[in-house]
Order: sequence, then C-alpha cells, then structure tokens
Amino acid sequence: MITMKDVSKTYPNGVTALSGVNIRIEQGEFVYIVGPSGAGKSTFVRLMYREVKASKGSIIINNTDMQRLKERKVPFLRRNIGVIFQDFKLLPKLSVYENIAFALEVIEESPRMIRKRVMEVLELVGLKSKARSIPDELSGGEQQRVSIARAIVNHPKIVIADEPTGNLDPDTSWGIMRIFEEINSRGTTVIMATHSKEIVNTIKKRVIAVEDGLIVRDEQRGEYGYEI
Ligand code: ADP
Ligand code: ADP
Repeated sequence: MITMKDVSKTYPNGVTALSGVNIRIEQGEFVYIVGPSGAGKSTFVRLMYREVKASKGSIIINNTDMQRLKERKVPFLRRNIGVIFQDFKLLPKLSVYENIAFALEVIEESPRMIRKRVMEVLELVGLKSKARSIPDELSGGEQQRVSIARAIVNHPKIVIADEPTGNLDPDTSWGIMRIFEEINSRGTTVIMATHSKEIVNTIKKRVIAVEDGLIVRDEQRGEYGYEI
C-alpha cells in the first residue's frame, strides 16, 4: 500500500512540481496518472521509487517511510518496486537474458534460480526466442517487453511505468498493455503515467489527474479527460 500525506516537491531551481498531495493506493490497484506536460506526473512517480525526495510531507510504501529511507537502502526498495521508462534504459552491450539476469545477479541468487526466473519472465512477455539478442536487434516494442521483464524478475509488489508506450505505435502499445494487465491480475500494483487517451478510455482503471502540481481528479474507472 502507498500513502502520501501533504506531499510537496520543490526542485533546487525553485520550481514547485507538486504541492499538498494526499493519496492512498491499495495493493493490487491499477492506476493511471494523467495530465498535461509539466503537470508533475513524472515527479509524482519518481517520488515513489525515491528517484527524488519530497520537500515536505510523508510517503509510506509498504511500511517504509520514503523520507527516512537512507540512501544506501534505496537499492533494497528497488527490488520491491519495478520501474519501466519510456526510453527502456536497457544496457546496450548486454543480451536480453543478461539485461534481465543483472537485476538478480546483484542480489547473489544462484545461477540455477536466475536461469529459471529469467526464462519465466521472458515467457510472460513472449520473448523467449530473443534471449540471446542485444537490444539494438529488437524493435521498440520488444525492447519495452525486455524492460518489463527486467522490472518484474524480482517479483516486486509494485510496478511503476512512466509513459511506457510513449515511443511505441498504437498496435505495439496494446500488446504492452496486455502485459501490464496480466501483471496486475497476479496481484501486483501497477501505476502508469500516460498521455494515451485511447488506452485510458479503453482499458478502464482508476485515473488520477495532475494539473499544475495539484491532484484535480481521482476516479475509479475514470476517463482520460484531455484532448491530447
Ligand atoms: P510531467 O511528467 O507531468 O510532464 P514533471 O514532473 O516532469 O511533469 O515536471 C513538473 C514540473 O517540474 C515542470 O515544471 C518541470 O519543468 C519541473 N521539473 C521536473 N524535473 C525537474 C528537475 N529535475 N529540476 C527542476 N525542475 C524540474
Ligand atoms: P544507476 O542508478 O546508476 O543507473 P542502477 O543500478 O540503479 O544504476 O540501474 C541500473 C539499470 O537498471 C538502469 O538502466 C536503471 O534504469 C535500471 N533500473 C534501476 N532500478 C530499476 C527498477 N527498480 N526496475 C527496473 N529497472 C531499474
């Protein structure tokens, strides 16, 4: 479960990206974060995986207080929170297999366990046959599926995706959404910042709208609500 109480974020340049945010997200929810460019969506999700720290207020994620979490403990948090980016952020010189195994190797899993878990997630995202490819040999949609596999290989309770379909064509995006729905159906919380009106209005989920650093709307089975 995620709770934010009176959370504000002002960047060092003086820009207040979020102010007075109160929110509660239960385990297993699927939540879209929508709003115009510059509204504070990325800041909102970055606070949850401690890419940025709040200037004010409290953020509790599964009993961990983000404000008190020491820098050296952040990698432990990241094992329970999988993060997916618009630009994939795969390591270009490593194979698909190695990109995914990397997240497990750093926590000293046995080679046998690593192999089992990597092949399981590759199966889930439909890329078993590409295990030996490098990212450059894959399409954008395939690269995004690898990044999803990497994000879930540790079986995190929460998956956060920041514009995961932003670089993908519509057909490819629907395939990515099916994977998120599958992950969510297994009990994982999915939080997704998006600009896709089509997706939000078709696959109906909770919608939190951010404008000018404020939460202006929070609806179960909500609408996208903007023209672009
Ligand atoms: P969105 O994801 O909705 O486009 P962001 O959270 O990226 O919004 O940005 C919200 C506001 O904070 C914008 O005015 C943006 O310019 C500013 N901002 C975002 N990141 C930083 C940063 N690292 N340093 C300074 N200002 C930032
Ligand atoms: P750095 O912060 O120096 O980039 P990390 O070890 O945190 O190094 O990340 C290594 C790679 O894994 C990066 O490409 C990063 O974007 C990605 N990554 C980090 N944390 C996560 C996470 N929780 N889920 C998915 N990918 C992650």
